[in-house]
Amino acid sequence: MTDKITTVLWDVDGTLLDFIAAEKAAIRKLFREYDLGECTDEMLARYSKINRTYWVKLENGEMTKPEILVGRFRDFFVSEGLDPSIASAFNEKYQDRLGDADSIVYCNDSLNLLKSLRGKIRQYAVSNGTIAAQTKKLKLSGLGELMDGIFLSEQLGYEKPNIEFFNQVFDALGPVDRSKVLIVGDSLTSDIRGGNNAGIPTCWYNPHGLSAGPEYQIDHEIKDLHEIYPLLAL
Ligand SMILES: [Mg+2]
Repeated sequence: MTDKITTVLWDVDGTLLDFIAAEKAAIRKLFREYDLGECTDEMLARYSKINRTYWVKLENGEMTKPEILVGRFRDFFVSEGLDPSIASAFNEKYQDRLGDADSIVYCNDSLNLLKSLRGKIRQYAVSNGTIAAQTKKLKLSGLGELMDGIFLSEQLGYEKPNIEFFNQVFDALGPVDRSKVLIVGDSLTSDIRGGNNAGIPTCWYNPHGLSAGPEYQIDHEIKDLHEIYPLLAL
């Protein structure tokens, strides 16, 4: 029996917001804008694969954020026989489009879930997304104003799962019993690993039933965000 949770650290992309849907909408829009032809489902699948390998490189500290943001599109354009020199400009516009209202899709009615918890427990956003995209997205989605605070890696200078990221979060939170702080996220390598590094309970949001290696300490696993209710001190 673990302590009841009084503070939740929410991952944003892939946890509160359906990032894959937003990503697809933004890239399709930009393909039209740049006159690159149709961006098919197959192409988007190839992009997702490339993108994932780049984010792992960031989490492992092998590449910097600016390198991965542009590098993934450069790789993708090369793989599609398109001009890779537009990658940098494309990425900038992409960050902006990602936050467009029609790119916002909630996971499990997350907006109303967070509304129902507002004022009962403390809720914070902890995200490795860019300041440009996340600020806009959190505002337009209505999620931002439900948070007691927002922590973005680009502002803190460290990415999840780096302990420095969490040290800054806990500095800002003030005195708190870490056993009552829960991180909820879809990523093993950033959220669960990050929670393990910070010495707090972890909750893996795993809607697609993926499997996890034994190197992660997963205290709770949920398929729907509403499953966190029993864990909370309400
Ligand atoms: Mg995520």
